[in-house]
Amino acid sequence: MSDNVLVYRGESIAAYGFGDPHPFGTDRHDVFHAELDKAGLGDVIEYGHPRPALVDELALFHTADYIDKVSRMSAAGHGWLDEGDTPAVPGIYDAASSVVGAVLCAVDEVMHGHHKRAFIPIAGLHHAARASAAGFCVFNDCGIAVEYLRKQFGIQRIAYVDIDAHHGDGVFYGFEDDPDLLFADLHEDGRFLYPGTGAAEETGTGRARGTKLNIPLAPGADDSDFHQAWKKVEAYLHAVRPQFIIMQCGADSLEGDPITHLSWSEEAHAHAAASLCRLADEYCEGRIIATGGGGYNRRNLARAWTRVVQSFADSQ
Ligand SMILES: [Zn+2]
Repeated sequence: MSDNVLVYRGESIAAYGFGDPHPFGTDRHDVFHAELDKAGLGDVIEYGHPRPALVDELALFHTADYIDKVSRMSAAGHGWLDEGDTPAVPGIYDAASSVVGAVLCAVDEVMHGHHKRAFIPIAGLHHAARASAAGFCVFNDCGIAVEYLRKQFGIQRIAYVDIDAHHGDGVFYGFEDDPDLLFADLHEDGRFLYPGTGAAEETGTGRARGTKLNIPLAPGADDSDFHQAWKKVEAYLHAVRPQFIIMQCGADSLEGDPITHLSWSEEAHAHAAASLCRLADEYCEGRIIATGGGGYNRRNLARAWTRVVQSFADSQ
């Protein structure tokens, strides 16, 4: 077991993006890694290199028809994968598949006991549904990781914790009736922001009714609002006792994001990551991975994601 934090980097995941003037540009990976280099964490980080996901791995969460559609539209290189948020740019299939592959590599490394903590920038594409793209997200790496943990490693009770400004609807509705997918999501109130879902009353359906935690926050909510809400996330996770934690730490919840309206600082991300590491140590044999998620102000995403990696390193 290495005490180093495993951080993924590579051109294949950097390529995930939609070009100017789309807010999800392909520069986000390099902006983050430049900031991480500056932070001088060289002796507590190890770099991991992505691989493409197999079709069978994508099919753990997505429908075969949808995977085919992405493949065909990526080759054609024009049109939209959804209703107008997610363009079918050339090569998007390979980039999206590499993002998934990086997350599955991280899961393997953590489950094999080589590392306790891993961070994958660009991943955390939480809007993609089982049969469709949505909100800049092609393949839902987090949803696939849940299914992969169950199939490959027999891990059932997985906590998905999302602090991106947007509700993680692809994960929530993908497991809405599954009581073993433990779900906690802080986000800007859906009455003011895409995708419009994630009301506090949405706690799961069927056997899962009452098992999931959605906490919508008013536009302008700041660090003190974050801290108040975070106490509820901690209490929830202590109650549900997960075996593995997947964090989605979108940086679009920081003040100054061009497409959202929350006003946190990167201290929120540092606090959430440190708290989740303590919970992972208590219930999950230390096992946690974090995915970068959204974040369209470059300075914010570089700082927030770097603080998450720093918290992971400090928590070893
Ligand atoms: Zn977002």
